[in-house]
Amino acid sequence: MRETLVLNASFEPLATVSLRRAVVLVMQDKAVVEQAHPGLRIRAAAVEVPVPRVIRLSRYVRVPFRRQAAWSRRGVLVRDQHRCAYCGRRATTVDHIVPRSRGGGDSWLNTVASCAEDNHRKADRTPEQAGMRLLTRPFEPTPADALVAALAGTVREELPDWLGLPA
Ligand SMILES: [Zn+2]
Repeated sequence: MRETLVLNASFEPLATVSLRRAVVLVMQDKAVVEQAHPGLRIRAAAVEVPVPRVIRLSRYVRVPFRRQAAWSRRGVLVRDQHRCAYCGRRATTVDHIVPRSRGGGDSWLNTVASCAEDNHRKADRTPEQAGMRLLTRPFEPTPADALVAALAGTVREELPDWLGLPA
């Protein structure tokens, strides 16, 4: 898969994102193409755009997230885009895959966004015990994930502290 380098408005390199994400940022006017693959075009939403190799954000984004992101419930919901890991519907709660009562901790890899219904149904069991399947694997957010989440236009107050917020 092709990766695109993302520069801050100040030209400082921030992260690499997938080509698809890069095109979305350009289409939303959140970034401009600084360098494209010569001769290559990509069709997106009925227009043809150059295939970006490097894009630059239109607005300066403060990105304090450099090291490991601190876990938070809010952070898990943002990471999972408020989508339930068990059914894909809107999630408002955070589920511990291995329940805390069984030694599961507050960590990125042990928690997923969940709708209240599935969280209640799973209760004090592991997904295997509850006969429930995870649609997505939990992951530790990278600087690129933080950046894309910060640019996604989410309500500012809902974003966890480790995300770089538009200045
Ligand atoms: Zn659900």
